[in-house]
Amino acid sequence: MVIRKRQKASDIFRETNLVFSEKVSFEVAFPTIKNLSVHVEHYGHGITRWNKDRYYNKDNQPGEYIDCSNPLCYNGGFSIGSILREMIRNNEIEKIDSLLCDGNEGSPKGRRIYRKCMNMFKIRIKLEYIN
Ligand SMILES: [Zn+2]
Repeated sequence: MVIRKRQKASDIFRETNLVFSEKVSFEVAFPTIKNLSVHVEHYGHGITRWNKDRYYNKDNQPGEYIDCSNPLCYNGGFSIGSILREMIRNNEIEKIDSLLCDGNEGSPKGRRIYRKCMNMFKIRIKLEYIN
């Protein structure tokens, strides 16, 4: 006879939450999405072949913002979250678009802004919905 130590509800809760915490944000934010595939190509200052392409999916989520890699750019990047929410609102399954960075090039501590960051992102998004 095998006697197992009984787990307490709090033990199970704790273990479940540990598993949960890694995935919960995506599922709460996008409950109708089964999977997504995002390819971001980044062009401009500070971009090399090593950081030009970024790929995301449900297991490697993009987060709300994708950052600009221009070393002179402040507050740069764009909101992938708002693009995904708009696609879902319109039931879109695919989107190909080009976006300019939202940030500005400035002095080393960001006190003076010299010009708008001219880095560009080409995005390709595919969404798979839960039926
Ligand atoms: Zn930028």
